[in-house]
Amino acid sequence: MQRAVLPPLKPHPRHCIVPGGRGNLTLSSCAKTHMPAQPRAKLAAVTQSDPIPHPELEADCDRCFGLCCTALSFSRPDGFGHDKPAGILCHFLAGDYRCSIHPRREDLGYEGCIDFTCLGAGQRASQQFATQNWQRDPTTRRQMFARFAQLLKLQEIRQAMIEAGKMEIGEVQEQQRLQLLTEIAKSADGMGDSGTEENDVLTRAQTWLNEIIKHANRRGGPWRKR
Ligand code: SF4
Repeated sequence: MQRAVLPPLKPHPRHCIVPGGRGNLTLSSCAKTHMPAQPRAKLAAVTQSDPIPHPELEADCDRCFGLCCTALSFSRPDGFGHDKPAGILCHFLAGDYRCSIHPRREDLGYEGCIDFTCLGAGQRASQQFATQNWQRDPTTRRQMFARFAQLLKLQEIRQAMIEAGKMEIGEVQEQQRLQLLTEIAKSADGMGDSGTEENDVLTRAQTWLNEIIKHANRRGGPWRKR
């Protein structure tokens, strides 16, 4: 039987911080936090096709304070040239938040940096804290990192919901998908409500994806529009 197919989500080759800056997550626990367990594994496993680019998922490093090079931890076995704890600047991050070894990252063993995309979470979190004194105030800095972690979740699920638009789904499901996307966009683009409401929409979107995949797998393929 042909299995349900969705374009893969970009994995996090870097480890993530726990929202609130309480410590590190491993990559597997990151997956559980960002895309609660089962569906993420299925989505990532099922297809080789390239996702269609979407401007709302693009990273804009010019408007970011190098959050992926600061907030996240990484280690040698995951494709980085050195180990770095969460919340500490990579020693290659320059004062203008640019990578000082950018053209040589592969040669120097930083493939993990090349593979990673924040899906636009970095500039969103940075701009929310741009007028605050996060450089000098550790509490504000931790809040910015926590916001970055939450935005990573929102942008990942946003990507999955956008990609789900390629599937053959019923009218009702399509309306639900568009409604969820609107709510996710409101949160991710800075007009969101409380953290509780953001977590609620994350859970509902994940449940929707689970159901769509389960249904499509029960029905068998083909189920892609294109
Ligand atoms: S090597 Fe460059 S891209 Fe990678 S974490 Fe360090 S500053 Fe960022």
